[in-house]
Amino acid sequence: MPKLQYETYCKNTPNKLVTEKFGDTNVYAQNTKSLLTKASGFMAGYDFTLNPYRGCQYGCSYCYAAAFSPNSQMEKDWGKWVIIKENGVDILEKELEKWFKKNPNKSPTIYMSSVTDPYQPIESKHMLTRSLLEVMYPYCPTLVIQTRSPIITRDIDILQRFQHLRVNMSVPTGSESVRRDFEPRSPSIKARLNAIKKIKESIDCLKGFVPKVSITITPLLPTLPDDEDFFIQKLKIADRIVIQDFHPSQNRSLVASTREEAQDIKRKYAWWYDSERISYIKFKEKLIVSLPGVEIKEGKNGFSYE
Ligand code: SF4
Repeated sequence: MPKLQYETYCKNTPNKLVTEKFGDTNVYAQNTKSLLTKASGFMAGYDFTLNPYRGCQYGCSYCYAAAFSPNSQMEKDWGKWVIIKENGVDILEKELEKWFKKNPNKSPTIYMSSVTDPYQPIESKHMLTRSLLEVMYPYCPTLVIQTRSPIITRDIDILQRFQHLRVNMSVPTGSESVRRDFEPRSPSIKARLNAIKKIKESIDCLKGFVPKVSITITPLLPTLPDDEDFFIQKLKIADRIVIQDFHPSQNRSLVASTREEAQDIKRKYAWWYDSERISYIKFKEKLIVSLPGVEIKEGKNGFSYE
Protein backbone atom coordinates (compact mmCIF):
# COMPACT_ATOMS: atom_id res chain seq x y z
CA MET A 1 0.00 0.00 0.00
CA PRO A 2 1.49 3.39 -0.94
CA LYS A 3 2.43 5.62 1.98
CA LEU A 4 -0.07 8.39 2.62
CA GLN A 5 1.22 11.79 1.63
CA TYR A 6 0.52 15.16 3.20
CA GLU A 7 0.21 18.13 0.91
CA THR A 8 2.63 20.95 1.66
CA TYR A 9 4.84 18.45 3.45
CA CYS A 10 5.63 16.21 0.45
CA LYS A 11 6.20 17.49 -3.08
CA ASN A 12 4.48 15.89 -6.11
CA THR A 13 1.95 14.23 -3.89
CA PRO A 14 -0.62 12.20 -5.84
CA ASN A 15 -3.29 12.19 -3.11
CA LYS A 16 -4.16 15.60 -1.75
CA LEU A 17 -5.39 15.19 1.75
CA VAL A 18 -5.76 18.82 2.78
CA THR A 19 -9.45 19.43 3.16
CA GLU A 20 -9.30 22.95 4.48
CA LYS A 21 -7.44 25.60 6.42
CA PHE A 22 -8.66 26.36 9.92
CA GLY A 23 -6.92 29.52 11.08
CA ASP A 24 -3.27 28.74 10.42
CA THR A 25 -3.84 24.98 10.71
CA ASN A 26 -3.73 22.58 7.76
CA VAL A 27 -6.63 20.18 8.17
CA TYR A 28 -6.39 16.71 6.66
CA ALA A 29 -8.93 13.93 6.57
CA GLN A 30 -8.05 10.28 6.61
CA ASN A 31 -9.80 6.99 7.20
CA THR A 32 -8.59 4.90 10.09
CA LYS A 33 -8.61 1.14 10.57
CA SER A 34 -9.22 1.37 14.29
CA LEU A 35 -10.10 4.00 16.85
CA LEU A 36 -9.72 2.05 20.08
CA THR A 37 -6.07 1.35 20.80
CA LYS A 38 -5.13 -1.21 23.41
CA ALA A 39 -3.83 0.86 26.30
CA SER A 40 -0.24 0.36 27.40
CA GLY A 41 2.52 2.10 29.34
CA PHE A 42 1.26 5.10 31.29
CA MET A 43 -2.34 4.20 30.41
CA ALA A 44 -2.07 0.46 31.05
CA GLY A 45 -4.85 0.62 33.63
CA TYR A 46 -7.39 1.24 30.85
CA ASP A 47 -8.66 -1.13 28.20
CA PHE A 48 -8.25 1.46 25.44
CA THR A 49 -7.04 4.90 24.53
CA LEU A 50 -9.09 6.81 21.97
CA ASN A 51 -7.73 9.67 19.87
CA PRO A 52 -10.33 11.21 17.52
CA TYR A 53 -7.67 13.31 15.83
CA ARG A 54 -4.04 12.93 14.96
CA GLY A 55 -1.97 16.05 15.69
CA CYS A 56 -3.11 18.84 17.96
CA GLN A 57 -3.75 22.49 17.20
CA TYR A 58 -2.68 23.55 20.68
CA GLY A 59 0.92 22.64 19.85
CA CYS A 60 2.16 22.87 23.45
CA SER A 61 5.93 23.29 23.58
CA TYR A 62 6.41 20.35 25.93
CA CYS A 63 4.06 17.90 24.21
CA TYR A 64 5.58 14.42 23.87
CA ALA A 65 2.93 13.47 21.27
CA ALA A 66 4.80 15.45 18.60
CA ALA A 67 7.19 12.48 18.42
CA PHE A 68 4.37 10.45 16.85
CA SER A 69 4.01 12.82 13.86
CA PRO A 70 3.92 11.24 10.37
CA ASN A 71 7.26 12.81 9.40
CA SER A 72 9.98 15.09 10.76
CA GLN A 73 8.64 18.24 9.06
CA MET A 74 5.25 17.72 10.69
CA GLU A 75 6.94 17.10 14.02
CA LYS A 76 8.66 20.46 13.60
CA ASP A 77 5.32 22.08 12.71
CA TRP A 78 3.53 20.51 15.68
CA GLY A 79 0.35 22.52 16.32
CA LYS A 80 -0.09 23.65 12.71
CA TRP A 81 -1.75 20.53 11.31
CA VAL A 82 -4.44 18.10 12.33
CA ILE A 83 -5.82 14.92 10.77
CA ILE A 84 -9.50 14.12 11.24
CA LYS A 85 -10.25 10.41 11.49
CA GLU A 86 -13.12 10.73 9.07
CA ASN A 87 -14.70 7.28 9.43
CA GLY A 88 -14.20 7.27 13.23
CA VAL A 89 -17.90 6.98 14.12
CA ASP A 90 -18.48 3.83 12.05
CA ILE A 91 -15.24 2.24 13.21
CA LEU A 92 -16.00 2.92 16.88
CA GLU A 93 -19.47 1.43 16.58
CA LYS A 94 -18.00 -1.76 15.10
CA GLU A 95 -15.24 -1.95 17.70
CA LEU A 96 -17.64 -1.55 20.60
CA GLU A 97 -19.98 -4.20 19.16
CA LYS A 98 -17.02 -6.54 18.86
CA TRP A 99 -15.99 -5.82 22.46
CA PHE A 100 -19.46 -6.69 23.77
CA LYS A 101 -19.62 -9.91 21.80
CA LYS A 102 -16.47 -11.00 23.59
CA ASN A 103 -17.25 -9.35 26.95
CA PRO A 104 -21.04 -9.25 27.30
CA ASN A 105 -20.93 -8.37 30.99
CA LYS A 106 -18.09 -5.87 31.02
CA SER A 107 -18.03 -2.28 29.81
CA PRO A 108 -14.67 -1.05 28.52
CA THR A 109 -12.56 1.59 30.22
CA ILE A 110 -11.48 4.29 27.80
CA TYR A 111 -9.04 7.21 28.08
CA MET A 112 -9.70 10.00 25.57
CA SER A 113 -7.17 11.23 24.58
CA SER A 114 -3.52 10.33 25.04
CA VAL A 115 -1.87 12.07 22.04
CA THR A 116 -4.31 14.79 20.99
CA ASP A 117 -6.89 17.10 22.54
CA PRO A 118 -10.41 15.83 21.74
CA TYR A 119 -11.73 19.40 22.13
CA GLN A 120 -9.17 21.31 20.10
CA PRO A 121 -10.60 24.15 17.95
CA ILE A 122 -11.45 22.03 14.89
CA GLU A 123 -13.89 20.08 17.09
CA SER A 124 -16.12 23.16 17.23
CA LYS A 125 -16.71 22.73 13.50
CA HIS A 126 -16.45 18.98 12.84
CA MET A 127 -17.94 17.69 16.11
CA LEU A 128 -16.20 14.33 15.76
CA THR A 129 -15.67 13.94 19.52
CA ARG A 130 -19.34 14.71 20.12
CA SER A 131 -20.39 12.09 17.59
CA LEU A 132 -18.10 9.54 19.25
CA LEU A 133 -19.66 10.28 22.65
CA GLU A 134 -23.08 9.60 21.12
CA VAL A 135 -21.84 6.23 19.90
CA MET A 136 -20.17 5.39 23.21
CA TYR A 137 -22.73 6.25 25.82
CA PRO A 138 -25.22 3.38 25.22
CA TYR A 139 -22.31 0.99 25.88
CA CYS A 140 -21.82 2.49 29.38
CA PRO A 141 -18.04 2.75 29.28
CA THR A 142 -15.93 4.11 32.10
CA LEU A 143 -14.55 7.17 30.36
CA VAL A 144 -11.86 9.70 31.20
CA ILE A 145 -11.67 12.79 29.00
CA GLN A 146 -8.40 14.72 29.02
CA THR A 147 -8.58 18.24 27.61
CA ARG A 148 -7.57 21.85 28.13
CA SER A 149 -10.47 23.25 26.15
CA PRO A 150 -13.64 25.03 27.23
CA ILE A 151 -15.30 23.62 24.09
CA ILE A 152 -16.11 20.58 26.24
CA THR A 153 -18.97 22.55 27.85
CA ARG A 154 -20.83 22.40 24.52
CA ASP A 155 -21.36 18.67 25.21
CA ILE A 156 -22.67 18.84 28.78
CA ASP A 157 -26.01 17.45 27.54
CA ILE A 158 -24.26 14.23 26.49
CA LEU A 159 -21.58 14.12 29.17
CA GLN A 160 -24.21 14.00 31.90
CA ARG A 161 -25.54 10.70 30.50
CA PHE A 162 -22.28 8.91 31.36
CA GLN A 163 -22.50 7.29 34.76
CA HIS A 164 -18.74 6.71 35.02
CA LEU A 165 -17.05 9.81 33.66
CA ARG A 166 -14.05 11.77 34.85
CA VAL A 167 -13.06 15.02 33.18
CA ASN A 168 -9.37 15.88 33.47
CA MET A 169 -8.78 19.56 32.75
CA SER A 170 -5.12 20.43 32.09
CA VAL A 171 -4.04 23.60 33.87
CA PRO A 172 -0.25 23.39 34.24
CA THR A 173 0.25 26.92 35.62
CA GLY A 174 -1.67 29.64 37.44
CA SER A 175 0.10 32.45 35.53
CA GLU A 176 -1.12 33.61 32.13
CA SER A 177 2.34 34.88 31.15
CA VAL A 178 3.82 31.44 31.82
CA ARG A 179 1.04 29.77 29.84
CA ARG A 180 1.71 32.11 26.92
CA ASP A 181 5.38 31.15 26.97
CA PHE A 182 4.89 27.39 27.09
CA GLU A 183 1.58 26.97 25.24
CA PRO A 184 0.67 30.18 23.38
CA ARG A 185 -1.97 28.51 21.20
CA SER A 186 -4.04 27.13 24.06
CA PRO A 187 -7.09 28.58 25.91
CA SER A 188 -6.61 30.91 28.88
CA ILE A 189 -6.41 29.52 32.41
CA LYS A 190 -9.57 31.41 33.32
CA ALA A 191 -11.52 29.84 30.45
CA ARG A 192 -10.47 26.34 31.56
CA LEU A 193 -11.38 26.86 35.19
CA ASN A 194 -14.71 28.41 34.19
CA ALA A 195 -15.42 25.39 32.00
CA ILE A 196 -14.93 23.02 34.94
CA LYS A 197 -17.17 25.19 37.10
CA LYS A 198 -19.86 25.15 34.42
CA ILE A 199 -19.70 21.36 34.07
CA LYS A 200 -20.05 20.87 37.81
CA GLU A 201 -22.70 23.49 38.42
CA SER A 202 -24.98 23.16 35.42
CA ILE A 203 -25.78 19.45 35.76
CA ASP A 204 -28.86 18.71 37.82
CA CYS A 205 -27.94 15.54 39.73
CA LEU A 206 -31.57 14.44 39.69
CA LYS A 207 -31.55 14.42 35.88
CA GLY A 208 -27.98 13.50 35.03
CA PHE A 209 -24.64 12.32 36.40
CA VAL A 210 -22.17 14.96 37.59
CA PRO A 211 -18.72 13.77 36.44
CA LYS A 212 -15.71 13.47 38.69
CA VAL A 213 -13.32 16.32 37.94
CA SER A 214 -9.53 16.45 38.05
CA ILE A 215 -7.21 19.32 37.33
CA THR A 216 -3.99 17.97 35.88
CA ILE A 217 -0.95 20.14 36.50
CA THR A 218 1.16 18.05 34.21
CA PRO A 219 3.86 18.99 33.68
CA LEU A 220 4.02 21.33 36.64
CA LEU A 221 5.00 24.73 35.17
CA PRO A 222 6.04 27.66 37.36
CA THR A 223 3.34 29.87 38.82
CA LEU A 224 4.54 33.38 39.64
CA PRO A 225 4.61 34.04 43.41
CA ASP A 226 1.95 36.78 43.11
CA ASP A 227 -0.46 34.35 41.42
CA GLU A 228 0.11 31.29 43.55
CA ASP A 229 -2.43 31.73 46.37
CA PHE A 230 -5.19 32.78 43.98
CA PHE A 231 -4.47 29.82 41.72
CA ILE A 232 -4.48 27.27 44.53
CA GLN A 233 -7.79 28.60 45.84
CA LYS A 234 -9.31 28.19 42.37
CA LEU A 235 -8.25 24.53 42.35
CA LYS A 236 -10.83 23.81 45.06
CA ILE A 237 -13.35 23.24 42.27
CA ALA A 238 -11.73 19.85 41.53
CA ASP A 239 -12.13 16.52 43.31
CA ARG A 240 -8.56 15.63 42.44
CA ILE A 241 -5.34 17.47 41.54
CA VAL A 242 -2.64 15.61 39.63
CA ILE A 243 0.90 16.91 39.54
CA GLN A 244 3.87 15.63 37.63
CA ASP A 245 7.25 17.06 36.69
CA PHE A 246 8.62 17.23 33.15
CA HIS A 247 9.50 14.05 31.30
CA PRO A 248 13.23 13.94 30.76
CA SER A 249 14.24 14.95 27.24
CA GLN A 250 15.66 11.85 25.65
CA ASN A 251 15.89 13.18 22.11
CA ARG A 252 14.50 9.98 20.73
CA SER A 253 11.38 9.61 18.66
CA LEU A 254 8.61 7.28 19.83
CA VAL A 255 9.66 7.85 23.42
CA ALA A 256 7.62 10.14 25.67
CA SER A 257 9.89 13.10 26.20
CA THR A 258 9.77 16.85 26.59
CA ARG A 259 10.44 18.69 23.34
CA GLU A 260 13.59 20.77 22.98
CA GLU A 261 11.38 23.84 22.49
CA ALA A 262 10.22 23.55 26.11
CA GLN A 263 13.74 22.99 27.37
CA ASP A 264 14.65 26.41 25.91
CA ILE A 265 11.68 28.12 27.56
CA LYS A 266 12.53 26.51 30.89
CA ARG A 267 15.78 28.48 30.89
CA LYS A 268 13.75 31.70 31.20
CA TYR A 269 12.39 30.40 34.52
CA ALA A 270 15.71 29.55 36.17
CA TRP A 271 14.36 30.82 39.52
CA TRP A 272 12.05 27.79 39.49
CA TYR A 273 13.89 25.19 37.43
CA ASP A 274 17.39 25.57 38.86
CA SER A 275 15.97 23.77 41.91
CA GLU A 276 13.21 21.94 40.05
CA ARG A 277 12.80 19.15 42.58
CA ILE A 278 12.56 21.58 45.50
CA SER A 279 10.10 23.83 43.63
CA TYR A 280 8.00 20.76 42.89
CA ILE A 281 7.97 19.52 46.49
CA LYS A 282 7.16 22.98 47.89
CA PHE A 283 4.26 23.39 45.49
CA LYS A 284 2.93 19.93 46.31
CA GLU A 285 3.11 20.70 50.04
CA LYS A 286 1.16 23.93 49.52
CA LEU A 287 -1.54 22.00 47.69
CA ILE A 288 -1.81 19.47 50.51
CA VAL A 289 -2.04 22.17 53.20
CA SER A 290 -4.39 24.49 51.29
CA LEU A 291 -6.78 21.92 49.81
CA PRO A 292 -7.63 19.45 52.59
CA GLY A 293 -10.79 18.20 50.85
CA VAL A 294 -9.13 17.55 47.52
CA GLU A 295 -7.29 14.37 46.57
CA ILE A 296 -3.68 15.13 45.53
CA LYS A 297 -2.08 12.51 43.31
CA GLU A 298 1.20 12.29 41.44
CA GLY A 299 2.09 11.01 37.98
CA LYS A 300 0.58 7.82 36.63
CA ASN A 301 -1.62 7.18 39.70
CA GLY A 302 -3.45 10.43 39.11
CA PHE A 303 -4.64 9.47 35.64
CA SER A 304 -6.81 6.57 36.73
CA TYR A 305 -10.60 6.88 36.82
CA GLU A 306 -10.89 5.75 40.44
S1 SF4 B 1 -3.17 19.90 24.28
FE1 SF4 B 1 -2.22 17.97 24.91
S2 SF4 B 1 -1.99 16.82 23.02
FE2 SF4 B 1 -2.36 18.93 22.45
S3 SF4 B 1 -0.34 19.81 22.17
FE3 SF4 B 1 -0.98 20.25 24.28
S4 SF4 B 1 -0.13 18.57 25.50
FE4 SF4 B 1 -0.09 17.92 23.34
